Amino acid sequence: MLPGRPPPRPFEVPDPLRDTEVCYRIIVYGSCSRDPADMDERFSKDEQEQRRLEVQLGPVIPASKMLTIQDRREFIKPYARTIIPDLKHNKPWRCEFCTKFAREAVWMNSEWLQLKNPNMISYVHLVCNSEIGDCAETLSAINSQMQALAGAPPTPLPKLPREYGLKYPMAASCVNCNSESKENRKRLKQCNGCKLTRCVQLV
Ligand SMILES: [Zn+2]
Ligand SMILES: [Zn+2]
Repeated sequence: MLPGRPPPRPFEVPDPLRDTEVCYRIIVYGSCSRDPADMDERFSKDEQEQRRLEVQLGPVIPASKMLTIQDRREFIKPYARTIIPDLKHNKPWRCEFCTKFAREAVWMNSEWLQLKNPNMISYVHLVCNSEIGDCAETLSAINSQMQALAGAPPTPLPKLPREYGLKYPMAASCVNCNSESKENRKRLKQCNGCKLTRCVQLV
């Protein structure tokens, strides 16, 4: 049977109406210098074995913003913007699909904000280059597969802003000045728990 579009879930409001936490999971994929350079070998294991970092966040939507799906989205958008598009890590992560350093974070997001217990998930692919080359093509194929599974119309990946030019700073660069020097990487700002730092996008 051909996969069809999943039936839409109805819009739900918590009863009683209250401030509501969004269960927001971020899964970051990349690789490490010790991982096999051969891609067949690298991806031969179970999907759960793939090198990844998982972060669980719980932004809270105030009760007054829970009444329509538009209100919920409007509330959560600025929150997501503080994390996207640039995501840093204190370890020198490599590209998910090759051995080059990871420089670009490509986000694939799904949300179920219409539920009374809203949830969101972001798959973040740390890659060397998301627009040009083999890794960009692999990424684009994954994007098409995910959209087909969700029954969504095919949409190309959004282009990353290019104010840095064609070469993004490494995922393991300083979140403030983007320095890639090894010396600076020892003193990176980071969360002691997940080791992630994030670049706040000013809007
Ligand atoms: Zn690559
Ligand atoms: Zn710096």
